[in-house]
Amino acid sequence: MANPHSKSWTTQQRIKGRKNFRILDTSLGLEEQGFKRGLPCPYEHTIRDVEQGWCYQCLLKIQTSLVGLDINYLHEDFQPYAHRVLEMVDVRGATECWPIKSYDKAGKPKRIVFPDYRQDTKAKAPAKVTIKKVMYTLFWGDVGQEVVTNYPGCTDPNCANPLHLCSIYNRDEHPRKAFNYFDLEPNPEKLNLLLNRKIQGYNIEDLLQKTYRPAIAAI
Ligand SMILES: [Zn+2]
Ligand SMILES: [Zn+2]
Repeated sequence: MANPHSKSWTTQQRIKGRKNFRILDTSLGLEEQGFKRGLPCPYEHTIRDVEQGWCYQCLLKIQTSLVGLDINYLHEDFQPYAHRVLEMVDVRGATECWPIKSYDKAGKPKRIVFPDYRQDTKAKAPAKVTIKKVMYTLFWGDVGQEVVTNYPGCTDPNCANPLHLCSIYNRDEHPRKAFNYFDLEPNPEKLNLLLNRKIQGYNIEDLLQKTYRPAIAAI
């Protein structure tokens, strides 16, 4: 009999939920493993699952429970969208709910145009995405077509605090109570580092590691 409190049952559910996730074998081609190169995610990763569109490196990151946003260390294509979505949310303390502020005429939270897995070429316009999904993508990572929902402990159905949001890739983890890093202020010094990263031989992950190493290593 399945005992929902046993460790093995939990593990089984976890594997079931993530069954489509697989570790990339770099000795084999991407296509034969069901991956493809696509447009970059906010962290400029480019390998995606062909079927469900999730970003391979983001999923690796989500499964370590790493969560945070430094608005300066995002791929340039995503920065305007990040500023826009943050204006649509009442950003509060890490442990509080963050109510969505923008609603349509029908009283539903607005959606925002955002480049996601459906945009496979820059010639195609980005589609509209829910505010929760955009917040999750920026703070956790790009889960492709997977849905983003609120953790059971979150009391506001229109809350977009990323610490209260989950997908199948972190739903069975205990909700995090704090961000590993958090900076929503544009910072000319950091933006300069971002701008020069290619000349300096860095990528965005390197910049995050460099700036936040103790907080990232603490997980
Ligand atoms: Zn990614
Ligand atoms: Zn909440």
